Amino acid sequence: MIQLHDLYFKPYLSAQEIHSAIENLAYQVNRDLKDKNPIFLGVLNGSYMVLADLTRKFNGDCEIGFIRTSSYKGTQSTGRIQLDINLDIDLANRVVVIVEDIVDTGLTVEALSQELQSYSPAALYVATLFLKPEVYNRELRIDYIGQNIANKFVVGYGMDYNNLGRNLPELYVQTHKMKNIVLFGPPGAGKGTQAERLKDKYGLVHISTGDVFRYNIKNETELGTLAKSFMDKGNLVPDEVTIKMLNAEVDKNPEATGFIFDGFPRTEAQARALDQLLESKNSEVSGMVALEVDDEVLVQRLLDRGKSSGRPDDANESVIRDRIKVYYNQTAPLKNYYQEQNKYYGVDGVGSVDQITDRLSVEFDKL
Ligand code: AMP
Repeated sequence: MIQLHDLYFKPYLSAQEIHSAIENLAYQVNRDLKDKNPIFLGVLNGSYMVLADLTRKFNGDCEIGFIRTSSYKGTQSTGRIQLDINLDIDLANRVVVIVEDIVDTGLTVEALSQELQSYSPAALYVATLFLKPEVYNRELRIDYIGQNIANKFVVGYGMDYNNLGRNLPELYVQTHKMKNIVLFGPPGAGKGTQAERLKDKYGLVHISTGDVFRYNIKNETELGTLAKSFMDKGNLVPDEVTIKMLNAEVDKNPEATGFIFDGFPRTEAQARALDQLLESKNSEVSGMVALEVDDEVLVQRLLDRGKSSGRPDDANESVIRDRIKVYYNQTAPLKNYYQEQNKYYGVDGVGSVDQITDRLSVEFDKL
């Protein structure tokens, strides 16, 4: 994810995919106009990249010029366009190709086309790298299209958001700021149950480090064998192992708009590693939302869960008490870590599952 001014953008088309769209456009233009000595008119500023790449692939003589228009302010078309045609090439009786980076409603290109007709070209074509067919609503025929795209606000490859983003070699689409929430609380607080509900409600990816370890144990992987000895005793798996695993889980979800981290971080080293990881993705922990539940309620809940969960660490009261002890010694201090950054939000974790989801949602909505 990248940030331009106040908005966030995520990858949409790779440089390779844009290259394919250019190839497609160049093929059509070469097929029809190779021997016509056309004048390619790039529409500034957005089309400077496509004009450069398209004409590099043009196999005949051609001339090049630029015209300037603008109809966007921020991410909204203003509905009015300004034309600034100051050409030093005579278009009369020439084959002219308007080259656009993107055509959406068609307002700009239609006005431009009408204006250019007054210069008496022999023929006037429109070539665009991208077209948004869902919103294109003009009579004007778009002669050459590199690729159709969905009706989304995109930046990169010449296109900007308030003048930033033009230099990006890929195309990005607007998205929301990532919501990265550490769902916190002692064992048995209900993090897993709540995370499953909240991930659907907020469209987030749920990563439970405990679940990933259990999956590895079940599948007898090297990681599982390593983790098992610690988990069975109610101890934490070493940071180095856990952090590596968490990084890999996050990297499996490059399209995620945010994560619910359940059972991670559990130590300050893990919290620092998480900060580093999210920073590398231009993001951060939005907040720690903590379920606060009394110890005796926890022990009882875990013993009850142990009757059906099949988890060996839930079956034995002394292991449960050890896990709670580990929580207070190693994990609970993280409350301070996030409190110091004004990112701690405590929630009463005693009540019905629905009630607790509602209380958590109040905090999630703020982040
Ligand atoms: P959980 O399902 O979150 O209660 O985790 C079960 C067990 O997995 C813990 O008692 C630890 O042994 C191990 N584990 C889970 N998450 C972590 C973590 N972030 N750091 C170290 N160990 C963990």
